[in-house]
Amino acid sequence: MVKLNIVEEDEKSIKVELEGLPLAVANTLRRFVINEVPTMAIEEILIIENTSAMPNEVLAHRLSLIPFISDIDRYVAPEECDCGSKLGCEKCVVRYVVRAEAVDEPVTVYSKDIIPEDPSITVKPVSPKIPIVKLAPNQRIEIELYVRVGKGRKHAKWQAAISSLYEKDGEPGKRILFIESIGSLPPRRILKEAVNIFKKKVQELNEKILSDIGGLRDG
Ligand SMILES: [Zn+2]
Repeated sequence: MVKLNIVEEDEKSIKVELEGLPLAVANTLRRFVINEVPTMAIEEILIIENTSAMPNEVLAHRLSLIPFISDIDRYVAPEECDCGSKLGCEKCVVRYVVRAEAVDEPVTVYSKDIIPEDPSITVKPVSPKIPIVKLAPNQRIEIELYVRVGKGRKHAKWQAAISSLYEKDGEPGKRILFIESIGSLPPRRILKEAVNIFKKKVQELNEKILSDIGGLRDG
């Protein structure tokens, strides 16, 4: 009997006890948590103006690593969207702008200054206080950002969580899967997504095997 028990849970992390699950299978589940659970992150950055001391590449890199509170029920990955457009549509891209200027005093630009084009958008940086760049007087930046759904497999910036797997002390066959969310999705949702992805893969494999056997019979 396979058992999955949540033994600890808070806003950031979850601990699940796995029983009767082979190590390879438990490890696959852990890898799905890291690589396959979709989240949202900045995929494209258009620097329109940057007179700060920070080079464009550094600025773009800093921005791209900011985790976003993700809505994977509303948005889909561009490759899964039916719009087929490179620019994307309201289901596969969210647009933001960062506009800031220092006049007399230096100004620090924070993640809270990443403003969605549509004010009703709930997808936003996990924290408003992540510093991005400092502007000295007379410096200014104007940047457009495109946030999309992706997976850790494609780039670490989409990774939903860090996760580890270990055997429970003195209880062979029982393992603990620990999941700590980066902040884009609640830990329980990450677990649920990973389990669903697992189910889907097993189902696909099943269908493949059945059709291969069918093919063998017909041939
Ligand atoms: Zn689309």
